[in-house]
Amino acid sequence: MADPNQRSTDALREFNRGRILDALSRTGSATRAQIGATTGLARSTVTDLVGELLAEQRLLDIAGDQLTERRAGRPSRRLVLAPTSDLSIGIDFGHSHCRTGVIDALGRVLAVRSAILDVDSSPVGALERARAMVAELLSGLGTDRHRVVGAAIGLPAPVNTVRGTVGPGNVLPQWVDRHPADELQAALELPVQVENDANLGALGEMAFGAARSFTDVIYVKASTGIGAGLVLGGRLYRGSTGRAGEIGHVPIDPAGAVCRCGNRGCLESVASVTQVLAMLQPAHEETLTMTRLAELVRLEDAGANRVLGDAGRLIGRVLADMVNNLNPGVVVLGGELALAGEPLLVGVRDSLDRFAQPDMVRDLAVRIGTLAENAQLIGAGALVLSPDSSS
Ligand SMILES: [Zn+2]
Repeated sequence: MADPNQRSTDALREFNRGRILDALSRTGSATRAQIGATTGLARSTVTDLVGELLAEQRLLDIAGDQLTERRAGRPSRRLVLAPTSDLSIGIDFGHSHCRTGVIDALGRVLAVRSAILDVDSSPVGALERARAMVAELLSGLGTDRHRVVGAAIGLPAPVNTVRGTVGPGNVLPQWVDRHPADELQAALELPVQVENDANLGALGEMAFGAARSFTDVIYVKASTGIGAGLVLGGRLYRGSTGRAGEIGHVPIDPAGAVCRCGNRGCLESVASVTQVLAMLQPAHEETLTMTRLAELVRLEDAGANRVLGDAGRLIGRVLADMVNNLNPGVVVLGGELALAGEPLLVGVRDSLDRFAQPDMVRDLAVRIGTLAENAQLIGAGALVLSPDSSS
């Protein structure tokens, strides 16, 4: 019969190994010292257990500059979870497009299919088109199809992830009370989850992008709609009914235009892609698109910089209150407005400097997301393949 002391030592060892793996699944990568700080384990214990996990090929030990921007001096060694061969499918719905992709365990998008379609008013057509695109992706994988372990859908609306339904309200009214994950699950014969698109962006940037190594994150998706994904203490925070982070409907101007939610002067009705383009349009003869706006920003067009900066200042004003309440480590800007670049970031930073608590802003990183238009797909991959940070 096993010695009870030995049994408890083994259990403690297993528990501590789990803490190390959990810490790495939350932060993406870490040095041995950071693992020690996060878990509270002694340096010798970390060295011992990391050595064991490396020998079992559950971790990889790689040069820091392979993961982060190059810095002067000798790069520190960082540990990451060893990739599994599992694959996932991401399905990212915007208000008027759908982008689908195959994602591997390292957060790489291996193949993409996308289409312009009327998501808002035609959920049946949008889901059928997504199913067809995913079927093409799976067929393109050939015999590797069996490596796909699940799929996740991102929607630009509040999602009740317990019931798998789109929340009530005027944001995606035709989708309310539908069960999109169940509908696709039956058609694809794969486990399918559904999640708010900003939440997926937060998970993606935390696992593989600009929020890596942070545990308290605000991710903003600023596109046709504006929403935030919150990660608090390393876990996605959805709120009691999946509506946390609905910053697009914070009133900015009580006398402003009526928003689709029924309120007046919401952030979304003054700082979305639609509003920014409409603001700049009178100064141009051509019909403006976000691609053209991004070009104008690169050409240092004063008007383009101005409207994007003003949108950033409005978004930053709303974020300042959130920063004061939540004290995050990083704010990551994503979505189509963020793709246009620097002026948005400068505007957000201006308002945070002015309206958030100086002590908090001093230690706050504010960044454009590094995953760009793939943030939601990669977040879907993280949700399917590393579910720890989302539960
Ligand atoms: Zn609104």
